Amino acid sequence: MTTTPKPRVRFAPSPTGLLHVGNARTALYNWLFARHTGGQFILRIEDTDLERSQASYETQLMEDLHWLGINWDEGPSWDGLPGEGDHGPYRQSERLALYAEYTERLLAEGKAYRCFCTQEELEAERTHATQHHGPHVYSGRCRSLSQDAIEQNLAAGKPYAVRLKIEDRPLRFHDMVRGSVEFAAETVGDPVLVRSAIGGAAGLSKNEAGGVPVYNYVVTIDDALMDITHVIRGDDHISNTPKQVAIYHAFGWPVPEFAHLSTILGPDRERLSKRHGATSISTFRQMGYLPEALANYLALLGWGAEDGKTETFTLAELVPIFSLERVTPSPAIFDFDKLNWLNRYYLKLADPERVAKLAERQFCQHRPDIFPLWSSSELYTAEALAVLASQDPPIHLNRPSNTLIALRKEWFARLLALFVPAVDHLDQLPAKAAPVLGFNPESARRDPENAAILAADSARSVLGELAGRVRTHSGFVTPDDFKEWMKEIQAATGIKGKELYHPARIALTGAHSGPDFDKIIPLIEQGTALALGITGVRERIEQFVGV
Ligand code: GLU
Repeated sequence: MTTTPKPRVRFAPSPTGLLHVGNARTALYNWLFARHTGGQFILRIEDTDLERSQASYETQLMEDLHWLGINWDEGPSWDGLPGEGDHGPYRQSERLALYAEYTERLLAEGKAYRCFCTQEELEAERTHATQHHGPHVYSGRCRSLSQDAIEQNLAAGKPYAVRLKIEDRPLRFHDMVRGSVEFAAETVGDPVLVRSAIGGAAGLSKNEAGGVPVYNYVVTIDDALMDITHVIRGDDHISNTPKQVAIYHAFGWPVPEFAHLSTILGPDRERLSKRHGATSISTFRQMGYLPEALANYLALLGWGAEDGKTETFTLAELVPIFSLERVTPSPAIFDFDKLNWLNRYYLKLADPERVAKLAERQFCQHRPDIFPLWSSSELYTAEALAVLASQDPPIHLNRPSNTLIALRKEWFARLLALFVPAVDHLDQLPAKAAPVLGFNPESARRDPENAAILAADSARSVLGELAGRVRTHSGFVTPDDFKEWMKEIQAATGIKGKELYHPARIALTGAHSGPDFDKIIPLIEQGTALALGITGVRERIEQFVGV
């Protein structure tokens, strides 16, 4: 009895740029397929374009995969993760010697031939085809060169490419997403396997005649030698597939299953690009998206659950239900709103300490005037002790855990509890928290909506009254103090509602709307007391009114 071997799939990125969402989705679907079927997921780095490949991109892409929760069973060694499997090396640049051997074999078996056509001759063929509205495929002129002619050309040192002699046409393959795909005979010429050394070849893996094996050739050899059973990749490779199938046939190797994933488009249905917003995984990470949100979103880009409804899945939940049969061939539209929705969903579920760590990084980067909070060693001021004791509930410093740092952490947790629910991704936090952290009075006045509110006579009266009260107040301001002031100003001026509250709010927070005074005022005053460099309520209103 024979047993079907477990699937082996691979993700084969070229480290020539940052890992973007399209490739990350390819990696994810490969990974999900491998985990679902109990197969193996292999990472192969296609770094033969030495001019454009960079080691830093390779490291970054491995970090990005790891961050998303995608681990590999075989691949290049990296940062202590499982290194080589028994099908290595897993960097194409370390496999160069191998390809020449296979070229010799195809030439010797008459399955490939040397093509001595010059660039000019090939160009002339192309022009002729265009003029006659025919497809641009090589005529196969060098297929039938006599042995003598070949010897003479070689003796004369003429450069040559190696081409595959395609015998069986049309070329067909089975695609798990698209069904049977067929390429008509006249659309697939004899493909170049090894480019001539002359003619601007970009890679550096030379054969004995100085030629460079091309992507279609090396990818097929690598996939075959790595026993890849399913090739899951972007649909930009569909037109390469018949050539690869022909190479499998020439070697007599079993042809794998293919699954070509649709292109990802932006909301305007143009190919997704930076123009639409963030596209690289590392950018999403820097913006404070959670990996589980991004992984969940990528899974939905072309795949949907059987019930047609559920949209929130962890990777662990996806593994048992993922199947390539449910992957759609139609293009996927990248919907930033939906990604944001998922991110908010996962932010709500996430452990607050984890969110605090991620948020801290954002604050340190955007508000270095206030953060980092925990490394600072300022001592309590007498005022600070007073305000902490006057909080509701009071914060007593006689508890041993009540170190300044612990208090600051508690304060930060309260700040996050107020503002995290208001953001789509964590890098929006520093701006969202400006009502507490402080703001620039001039820019707040310049804001058109604020300016319109402040232009009213009533606004001027409110601010005048407010500043008067602030000046005569001693000690920290509580929400009750503020409420009292509002009542008094209303009684003194007859101004109420929006006319009263909007100018006051602008003076306190820099914006005419935002969280309740009850929530903001204690955070401001505690932040001041904890020596965080936050301007207190009195001072900021005085500053604002004085502008
Ligand atoms: N290095 C190729 C790419 O990044 C891999 C294509 C393939 O999966 O065959 O597009």
